[in-house]
Amino acid sequence: MIAQLRLHHFEPASRANGPGTRSVLWLQGCTLSCPGCFNPLSHPRDGGSLCSMDEILGWILAQREQIEGITISGGEPLQQAAPLGVLLRAVKQAAPLSVVLFTGFTWAEVNRLPGVAEVLSSVDVLLAGRYDAAKRVASGLLGSSNKSVHFLTPRYTKADLDRVPEAEILIHPDGEIRFSGIEPLQW
Ligand code: SF4
Repeated sequence: MIAQLRLHHFEPASRANGPGTRSVLWLQGCTLSCPGCFNPLSHPRDGGSLCSMDEILGWILAQREQIEGITISGGEPLQQAAPLGVLLRAVKQAAPLSVVLFTGFTWAEVNRLPGVAEVLSSVDVLLAGRYDAAKRVASGLLGSSNKSVHFLTPRYTKADLDRVPEAEILIHPDGEIRFSGIEPLQW
């Protein structure tokens, strides 16, 4: 079993990254180079930190009473498809949490990628495609209008995504302030 994922950031509870309250994992590493990407610090494949599957699973399950699901973002999650598939299967086996996944690959590319079947079998909603700054919309969880939404299970509808706030400010107990969402505020 591949026992580690390279992680950019884990947010225990967010309301601007999918329906309801969700834990969010931003995975580290992306080679897709969308001009205007909002999170270039997540691109280096040797950045972030390597975290064990048990560690990440523990963080998620510690939130299980407060969240309705998890969101996987990046970086490019499908460039770590093998360990991500293992993690998502473990999450689904442990708790009835939903899964939203953002990928920069188009839906056609996703379906040609090797090793993504296990990831897709655990995902409820997948948002696919490069960020295109010229087509920026920032609503319904879409950063730009060229992206496509795929409801892989009946758990959510477009109306659920339309209700997600575009931005949030997260203030952590240690005083750290983070901006999150599809249209994060600039400080
Ligand atoms: S796929 Fe996502 S993380 Fe990668 S460059 Fe594009 S917007 Fe940035």
